[in-house]
Amino acid sequence: MKTQLLTANEIDRAAEIIRAGGLVGIPTETVYGLGANGLNPMAVRRIFQAKGRPQDNPLILHIPDASWLELYCQDIPDAAWRLAKRFWPGPLTMILRCKKRTPEELRELEQGPVCSATHFGPHVIPDVVTAGLDTVGMRCPAHSMCRAIIQAAGVPVAAPSGNTSGKPSPTSFQHMLDDMEGKVDAILDGGDCQVGVESSIIDLTCTPPRLLRPGGIPLEELQLVLEDVELDPAVTRQLGKEERPRAPGMKYRHYAPKAPVTVVRGEPPRSAQYILDHIKDSYWDGVICFNEFAHWFQDYPVEQLGGSLDSFEHARRLFRALRAMDASGVKHIWAQCPDSAGMGLAVVNRLNKAAGFRVVDA
Ligand code: AMP
Ligand code: MG
Repeated sequence: MKTQLLTANEIDRAAEIIRAGGLVGIPTETVYGLGANGLNPMAVRRIFQAKGRPQDNPLILHIPDASWLELYCQDIPDAAWRLAKRFWPGPLTMILRCKKRTPEELRELEQGPVCSATHFGPHVIPDVVTAGLDTVGMRCPAHSMCRAIIQAAGVPVAAPSGNTSGKPSPTSFQHMLDDMEGKVDAILDGGDCQVGVESSIIDLTCTPPRLLRPGGIPLEELQLVLEDVELDPAVTRQLGKEERPRAPGMKYRHYAPKAPVTVVRGEPPRSAQYILDHIKDSYWDGVICFNEFAHWFQDYPVEQLGGSLDSFEHARRLFRALRAMDASGVKHIWAQCPDSAGMGLAVVNRLNKAAGFRVVDA
């Protein structure tokens, strides 16, 4: 397939492709996404094919403003409106109950082509988007081009991150091309992503609300709006074989570069010293470290995460660093682990998952 490379002034073309059932790589403030018409099961199915994504891992539905929630969700709690008011547009995904089709709508579907009832399912959002769950992830992105595309398409856009399944998410146009050129209809160049990690996902269908994935909105900020938030165990540790994660995506290996990663926890000078003491080979061992320590590793392939206290910069640079390590061909990656306050929780979560939770204490 020839992938059209679109520029910022071709929003309408991107929207047209989505409306017609195509796939478009779309810049968002978090990471690049792979978008399709969220009401078209055939189009959404192509997302799973292009990414090699397991069918049981649901997608997030992107809408241009909070008023669209009522079109696709029901039993919306007051907390959802408060969160939307405070954080939308922005990097927050809310898990809400899917709106059910009316009996008349279901009858109409059943009388339609043989396949239509099974394709669409009992909710107003096709089952392929939600992986058959009765809940749906909803987000209103802040990136101006992304919102303009959704507005112009006039449909909710189902979109996971635009990477090949299992790989680090794309945070630049080039990363998106690297993974998806030839597999999707178009990719729109919106520059580098400003947040760099995916949205925070909060489940509002349980009490108390539960943070399923830390992301672009820090937990501490969510706590200013919600009285009580539970942290899903899958955020901080590897789940046991018998445990079922609440976000189906959490059970898969994620964000993983080709080389194994060892995450080193501890005060930055200690973790840097630990790496220096244990690193062996200046050709095959790479290092992801804070800027202050880069000169310690000048004989090694090194990627800088930003200053040790700047967790927003760590978020912006992490996926790029993992991809750069892949490109350098190293066989083992050592990474300094940031503090997990604020944006740090999302960065540490992505690093730990990239490492398959191979973490050592310095
Ligand atoms: P991605 O866009 O690649 O970050 O993937 C979307 C994430 O949202 C995955 O981790 C999914 O498991 C999660 N997700 C989407 N819909 C739901 C839902 N209804 N319930 C729980 N998690 C969801
Ligand atoms: Mg993803």
